[in-house]
Amino acid sequence: MRRWLLDILVCPIDKSRLELRVFDEHEDEIMEGVLICSLCKRLYPIIKGIPILLPDELRDKKVEEEFFTRWRDRVSI
Ligand SMILES: [Zn+2]
Repeated sequence: MRRWLLDILVCPIDKSRLELRVFDEHEDEIMEGVLICSLCKRLYPIIKGIPILLPDELRDKKVEEEFFTRWRDRVSI
């Protein structure tokens, strides 16, 4: 995803603004990272350049587990 997207993306639960942490960047594209809700503190992964902003019931636990295990040193919850 591109950094400017941060200006329009919001938390799907409470519509609050998100904080970006970049783990891997390729040229201007953020490939891996997390978006952190400023209000509810939920973490949303950015996987292969795609921000996964879904409400809890639609989140893919298996995909996210794999992601957060891979980046566990960079994510402090
Ligand atoms: Zn939130």
